[in-house]
Amino acid sequence: MKPSKLPFKAVIFDLDGVITKTAVLHALAWEKMFNHFLIERNKQLNQNIPLYIHPTDYLNYVDGRPRYEGVEQFLQSRNIDLPFGKMEDDISKQTICGLGNAKNHMFHELLQQKGVEVYPATLDFIHQLESLSIKLAVASSSKNCKQILEKVGLSSYFPTRVDGVYLAEHGLKGKPCPDIFLTAAQYLNVNPMDAIVVEDAASGVEAAKNGGFGLVIGLAREDNQEDLIYHGADIVVSDLSEISMNDITQWFEKDLPQKQWRLTYHDYNPKLEKSRESLLTVGNGFMATRGAFEEVSASENHYPGTYLAGVYNKLSTNIQGKEVENEDFVNFPDWTLVQFKVENEIIIPNQANILKIYRHLNLQTGLLYRELEVKSKKGHRFKVVSKRFVSMDNPHQSSISYQITSLDYKGKITLISTLNGNIINAGVDRYKNLNQNHLLPYQQGAKDYCQWLIVKTIQSDIYIKEKATLFVYKNDKKVSDTFSHHISDGVVVSSIDVEIGANASVTLEKNVTISHYDAKTDKAIMLQGDDSIKSLSHKQLFENSKKQWQKLWQKIDLPIQQDRKTQLLLRLHQYHLLVSASSHNTQLDVGIPARGLHGEAYRGHVFWDEVFIMPYYLRFFPNVAKSLLMYRYRRLDAAKEIAKSLGQKGAAFPWQSASTGEEETQKIHLNPISGQWHDDLSALQYHVSLAIAYNVWTYFQHTKDVDFMMNAGLEMIWNICLFFADKAIYDTSDNRFHLLNVMGPDEFHEKYPQAKQGGIHDNAYTNVMTVWMLQKSIDLYEEYDDKKSDLINSLSIDKQEIKHWKSICKNMYIPIKDDIIEQFQGYFDLEALDWEFYRRKYKDIQRLDRVLKAEGKTPDSYQLSKQADVLMMFYLLPIDEIKQIFLNLGYKMGADFFNKNFEYYYQRTSHGSTLSKLVHAKLAKLKGDDKLAQKLYQEALESDYSDVQGGTTAEGIHTGVMAGTVILALNDF
Ligand code: BGC
Repeated sequence: MKPSKLPFKAVIFDLDGVITKTAVLHALAWEKMFNHFLIERNKQLNQNIPLYIHPTDYLNYVDGRPRYEGVEQFLQSRNIDLPFGKMEDDISKQTICGLGNAKNHMFHELLQQKGVEVYPATLDFIHQLESLSIKLAVASSSKNCKQILEKVGLSSYFPTRVDGVYLAEHGLKGKPCPDIFLTAAQYLNVNPMDAIVVEDAASGVEAAKNGGFGLVIGLAREDNQEDLIYHGADIVVSDLSEISMNDITQWFEKDLPQKQWRLTYHDYNPKLEKSRESLLTVGNGFMATRGAFEEVSASENHYPGTYLAGVYNKLSTNIQGKEVENEDFVNFPDWTLVQFKVENEIIIPNQANILKIYRHLNLQTGLLYRELEVKSKKGHRFKVVSKRFVSMDNPHQSSISYQITSLDYKGKITLISTLNGNIINAGVDRYKNLNQNHLLPYQQGAKDYCQWLIVKTIQSDIYIKEKATLFVYKNDKKVSDTFSHHISDGVVVSSIDVEIGANASVTLEKNVTISHYDAKTDKAIMLQGDDSIKSLSHKQLFENSKKQWQKLWQKIDLPIQQDRKTQLLLRLHQYHLLVSASSHNTQLDVGIPARGLHGEAYRGHVFWDEVFIMPYYLRFFPNVAKSLLMYRYRRLDAAKEIAKSLGQKGAAFPWQSASTGEEETQKIHLNPISGQWHDDLSALQYHVSLAIAYNVWTYFQHTKDVDFMMNAGLEMIWNICLFFADKAIYDTSDNRFHLLNVMGPDEFHEKYPQAKQGGIHDNAYTNVMTVWMLQKSIDLYEEYDDKKSDLINSLSIDKQEIKHWKSICKNMYIPIKDDIIEQFQGYFDLEALDWEFYRRKYKDIQRLDRVLKAEGKTPDSYQLSKQADVLMMFYLLPIDEIKQIFLNLGYKMGADFFNKNFEYYYQRTSHGSTLSKLVHAKLAKLKGDDKLAQKLYQEALESDYSDVQGGTTAEGIHTGVMAGTVILALNDF
């Protein structure tokens, strides 16, 4: 047979409802079994539990799932708790297995009575594919798959069959987990991207989407078209006769490439909205705006927010008698607010009035697109299309085009545009007891088609100006743009009435410029653009921005072949990194916040996460990497002050850095599980300075930018060396240097269980990285000896100091037992944790610290880690280099020491930070465990997309894991 010219190589079919009409029999069997069980049970227990209803319960709980899981899901919906039982349980037994077996029994009876039919269109399709040499497989949760295929005479078409029996034997998870389809693809030896899945169940469609398959065809046999689209079907038909080979080819050639650039949502889910708003953020590195609906203000389900790189404000609050200060990332006045009013109702989209919704963020162009059909209280329907961007061309510019089409209404529509400065920081629930009023109104006004607003930050004295120009188009023709204005302190509302007929449309364009002025430094922050280009239309402004995005993508895109989801997520990550820091930042004095410009978590502060982020900018934008390092350099004096306050020489950069470079880590924090405030000792993570030294050094290796080193880099590294060298205490009892009262990256260990003082001793990661840094600095010192005498003199680094550094490089203490590096002195003596118990009890134990503290215990007492700590050294340094460091220190490690340490710590880590799986993925690969590496890598990739920490994405994305996953992809992950 000739190899096929089609753009796909394989098709994987579900069985019931796709190939055979057995789905109907299954549905009937489920209904009979459950209702027989419920009627008996209601009688016995004198209850009134609602019976099983087809198709609702079938579609929601059992369709496509493995049998026992289907039973479990349905019983859960009726709050019935039965023991799992055993697979061999008799059909009369009231266990999950017993009921599952009863359903199977019923199904076989029905099969005998009614026989099996094949869908003719599916059969035609199979024949066509066969003749075109497309590989075929069947992937079904059914344990009867083999028999049924035999019965209908189709076994020979499907030598590859992954079915319910295979799932059970190999311990694979059922749909919606993608394992079943991925296994089939593996057997067929094709990449998911080159394969099609045909499914009729929502859970199966979701599984195929999760597996990143090239095309997911949904077969809506039950009038469940919308549901299948929502779960991720690309094309939905009610029968395969409705789709041709041409349609499929067109999909692969045209639509699929586009889809891989789009983060798409087909539904409105109030609970997930805030997290989606973060993921739908538009921005340019200078500023960013969350993807909240245009019509909403901050509420339980929505949080519009706009943040500008480096704009903070500090406020104090009295908590339990203590005055605490927090420097926050200021939420700027909401420029996005656009609404429309019909018959006295301002229509705010919500679960009750949204009839249809489709949204996507186009990562290639930076455009957020939303299509909505809403219904007014009086029953009129409107289609609303909004397009929004923040310009990559002119960093101060943003724009919304908001089009309303009346579907059945004739009359007056009022368009309303608001600039709303009457807002607070309310993006993080845990901070709600803290003072969050950062803005004071300063000036506001409006004239004709312009609105403007100036507010001022209370403490940092920054004036923020937003200026909007408004244009109205009726059926694409510009109409009078004289608005009426309502102006109050901090809020400007402008509105205009437009008469429209049914099926007519009206569009409001709102072009907004944002700038700020720092009164303390008397500096207007105006990057290369300004607000003089107000005459350009939304479309022209967008074209300018799109061109810049396209240029960026030409430089950074990483096309991959394997699966569509990974491709989309890598692009999503690169996009959000550029929204968080781009070349525009080189004109600013800012660092990159751990949570991007996407939300208020960690208050926009800058952490050691830069060590994960820097390689990304080094690879694609070394100018941005330099600018991020200069942000640190300009705060070197503040770091020296911190060192001084600790009684040490040199410089210690703050664990959390914001505007001034002073320590911004909160002193107490709220445990959301217990509602208690606890001391926050995380400022003891001096290792942040080691990360900065590492970044300076890698920047230099990469760029050979001697100028930077002479004017900033060396001064930073050497000051950090002075700090650690001074902090290292020589103990004559073991003739070793020790670093006492520190914290490692594992933030779960803040102190020894009974200790009053914070910190632990000799965190191995900190000690090893200190030695690494001192050694590199000695090399640099020797290399630049003659050229840098001024600097050396000013730092008073004399031969004596260098001798001291050399001595530390030979005599630093590292706790090690049997080749296992002890995370810190005394870690091995801590109690072992019953991981199984906690996993069972709490399911999600990523934040074991909060769990244990809420139970009145402390993580300090146990052998556990929030994230890679010891293992972090292997993420940053080659194994051989680490071995050499140990050798120089007089510790001889066995050949297998890396693997041993990996095994030991991997088992004791809860991955409470998104950084953790990233690190472990890289190291699993280093260890040669590709399967684990891939699993962890995929989980790291999904951190924000699936909001794996159960809600934290709502408060901002995680820039560290986003950058890290792109870097691993570059290294053939
Ligand atoms: C992690 C830190 C990280 C911080 C900011 C914490 O949860 O434990 O390592 O620096 O988040 O991303």
